[in-house]
Amino acid sequence: MFELVEKLEKQRSLTLAEYEYLLENRTDEIAGILAQKARQAREAVYGKAVYIRGLIEVGNICKNDCLYCGIRGSNKDCERYRLTENDILSCCDNGYKLGFRTFVMQGGEDAYFNDDFMCGVISKIKSKYPDCAVTLSLGEKSYESYKRLFDAGADRYLLRHETADKEHYEKLHPESMSYENRMECLKNLKEIGYQTGCGFMVGSPYQTYANLSKDLKFVEEFKPQMCGVGPFIPHKATPFKDYPAGSAELTCYILSIIRLIQPRILLPATTALGTALQDGREKGLLSGANVVMPNLSPVEQRKKYELYNNKLNTGAEAAEAVKALAKKIESVGYFIVTDRGDIKKEGN
Ligand code: SAH
Repeated sequence: MFELVEKLEKQRSLTLAEYEYLLENRTDEIAGILAQKARQAREAVYGKAVYIRGLIEVGNICKNDCLYCGIRGSNKDCERYRLTENDILSCCDNGYKLGFRTFVMQGGEDAYFNDDFMCGVISKIKSKYPDCAVTLSLGEKSYESYKRLFDAGADRYLLRHETADKEHYEKLHPESMSYENRMECLKNLKEIGYQTGCGFMVGSPYQTYANLSKDLKFVEEFKPQMCGVGPFIPHKATPFKDYPAGSAELTCYILSIIRLIQPRILLPATTALGTALQDGREKGLLSGANVVMPNLSPVEQRKKYELYNNKLNTGAEAAEAVKALAKKIESVGYFIVTDRGDIKKEGN
C-alpha cells in the first residue's frame, strides 16, 4: 500500500489494477497518509486559498431521464421552475457583492435555455462583470452550441462523465442517452478551449471498485481542469430510491487520489458531500479539495432543485451565509479568496 501511494505521488499515475487495489484495501491509516499528501500537493500550488463559485440553478425542467436524478423528466412530483434573464442577473448582482467572481449556471436540459438565450445572459454578465468567470453546466449540446456559448464569453463547462465504464453508464441512464455522446461532448468542450470539468458519483447503483478505477484512469488521461466528485444520494421519486447512499469517507479518499494524480486540478468539496456528512465540505478540503460552490439561486426556488433528498439548501452552503462558511473554512486552516479562481498553469 505505502509503495502504491509513493508511486502515485511520484508518477501521478497507477495501473487500473493498482487503483482498484488502493480503493478496495483502504484503511484509516492509508486514508490519513493520502489526505496529508493531497493537502501538501494542493498547498504547493494554491496555498491555503479556497475558491468559491456562486451556483445559480437556472431551472429544473429536463428532457432527460437519468435514473438517479430527482429532476428527471418523468418525475411527476417535481415542481418545475425556470429563472428569467433578470432573475439570473440579479443572482449575479447579489453574488458579486458577496465576493463571488465565478458564476456557475446549472440546470436541466431545457430548450428554453437555448443558445440565443444563454449567449445573451453570458454576454450581459461578462460586460457587467468583466472580472468574473462564467461556468456552464447545462448538459449535452452540439459542438456548434458549445462553440457559440464559448464565443459569447463562457469560460468553463462542467459535464460529469458520471462513470467511465460503458456498461455501468447504461445502467444509470435511459436508452436515449449514450456513453459515447457524453465522452464526445467532453472532448469537444476541451477542444473548444473551455476549462472543462468531468466527474462522477461515488456509490452510484451497480458501481464496483473496478468502475471507480476506470474513473480515476479517465481523470488521469483526460486531464480535466476540474473534477466534481460527490456521494450518490437516493431520491425518493427515482428508480434508485431504495439504493443506499454512497460513502462520504470513500469520496474523501478519492478526492485525495485525484489531487495526487493532478496537483493543479480545481477540485470542489461538493454539496452532496456536505449533505452526506456533517462537516463534509471541511473534510473534503482536508482531503485535497480547493473549491466550494455555495448556492446563489433565489431562495424560493432552491428547494425545487432537488437532485437528491435532503439536499442542503439553508445554512452555510447558501451564499448569504458566506461569512459563516468562511468561519468554518478558517477553522480547518484555509481561507476564502475573492478571485476568479482559474486553474494555475505550470510556472505560475
Ligand atoms: N443537467 C446537467 C446538470 C446535472 S446536475 C448535466 O447533465 O450535466 C449535476 C450533477 O448532479 C450530475 O452530473 C450528477 O452527477 C449529480 N447528481 C444527480 N443526481 C444525484 C444524486 N441522486 N446523488 C448525487 N448526485 C447526483
